[in-house]
Amino acid sequence: MITRTLTEAKQALAKKEISAAELTKACLAHINETEPKLGAFINVYPDEALQRAKELDEKGYNENMPLWGIPVSVKDALATKNMKTTAGSKILENFTPPYSAFAVEQLEKAGAIILGKNNMDEFAMGSTCENSAFKAGSNPWNTDCVAGGSSGGSAISVASCQIFASLGTDTGGSIRQPASLCGCVGLKPTYGRVSRYGLLAYGSSLDQIGPFARTVEDTALMLSVIAGHDERDSTSSPREKEDFTRLFQNPKMDLHNITVGLPKEFFQSNAMDSEVAKRCEQTIEEAKKLGAVIKEISMPHLVYSIASYYIIASAEASSNLARYDGIRYGHRTNQPQDLDELYTMSRTEGFGEEVQRRILLGTYVLSAGYYDAYYKKAAQVRRLIRDDYVSALKECDVLLAPVSPIVAWKKGSVTDPLQMYQMDIFTLSLNLAGLPGLAIPVGMAHNMPVGMQLIGSAFDEAKLLTIGHCLTSHLGTTNQHTF
Ligand code: GLN
Repeated sequence: MITRTLTEAKQALAKKEISAAELTKACLAHINETEPKLGAFINVYPDEALQRAKELDEKGYNENMPLWGIPVSVKDALATKNMKTTAGSKILENFTPPYSAFAVEQLEKAGAIILGKNNMDEFAMGSTCENSAFKAGSNPWNTDCVAGGSSGGSAISVASCQIFASLGTDTGGSIRQPASLCGCVGLKPTYGRVSRYGLLAYGSSLDQIGPFARTVEDTALMLSVIAGHDERDSTSSPREKEDFTRLFQNPKMDLHNITVGLPKEFFQSNAMDSEVAKRCEQTIEEAKKLGAVIKEISMPHLVYSIASYYIIASAEASSNLARYDGIRYGHRTNQPQDLDELYTMSRTEGFGEEVQRRILLGTYVLSAGYYDAYYKKAAQVRRLIRDDYVSALKECDVLLAPVSPIVAWKKGSVTDPLQMYQMDIFTLSLNLAGLPGLAIPVGMAHNMPVGMQLIGSAFDEAKLLTIGHCLTSHLGTTNQHTF
């Protein structure tokens, strides 16, 4: 049962082939068995999960709750009342928030059972899930390799069938990249589609919460649950909630009349591994066979996305992380001599190396004398990148691009931070533009999963899901998992 899709598990629960408690027990047993090798969770809550499952079973199946009885997990960057929320950092090791994030509230209202909090790079800074203060996550296809990051734990959990779906966050690729490296589906929604209330902020103008699942259809269901207006996030879109599962009642099974744009700057990148490139070409061929019109396009400012992103994200992080001062939240140093030392030592002891690097970089680019040269320039370049996307999407329905230039690499093999930032070459620009991106599995290279991303105009998630479903169904990469 645990290897089925969310949609199939939902049908089994509705038909009472299995109870919520039985399904939860099966997932917990699998977590117990696989966790020592995978490191997908920072904290698991078996007793609370079983208690909730029991309560749901007692009340009986409710068809108005779209995730009734479904075991899920949530990245540890999302606040959960009654569950620790660490953001992968020592500074919050023992922090339990007094409230839950909007997206978590939505999952609970829909009847989902949250089994635990997923491992992640500290404060979502990283591309491998090795920057967690607690343990590195491992790729379920080869545990010597990284899972991707920062939402590595969520991707591992979904790809290894520990749960049916998960929530992650994407500031510069953190949903799409681990989904691709672990072989599952991941959606970064349009900025504003999902409320960030209760998300521990990294780069507030870039952060977006989104789902991981094993099929596009399951991803659509998760998005339907977590999207919607929330007045507690001033950037939350006032749009009505949409039911994206309607797209799958009569799914479109060809791509006639669809123009798919290929940004040539991505495909010509010399960072691309040749086997990964081959898999991407085959996917483009498949889209052609399905009737799509393929159009090469140029987005000349994409080359500046790494520079622009790492300036803006670090600047915002340095400001957001100022709240962790040893006074109001989390870790406080023992016996400081004075107030200055209390701040300095609490932060020095609580934050890991990469987080400290970003705070330093961010503070530097925002300081008087450097602001105009770095931060302001990066913000201007961001606008040009966004304009490139807007004009490309005027000519094309969607864009198709790689997610990661290479498949999951060996843990510990990339230690230079700049080299690590280069790995994000294909994902960062989308967050700068605020647009939605759906990562889908497209096959294997070097015995590891390869993903591609479909990129759309703002609030065009329905189109991405429709095309993503059509492509994955034809490629046979739906519900691809390792057990
Ligand atoms: N790897 C990128 C970073 O470290 C993106 C991470 C993310 O999307 N949270 O900033």
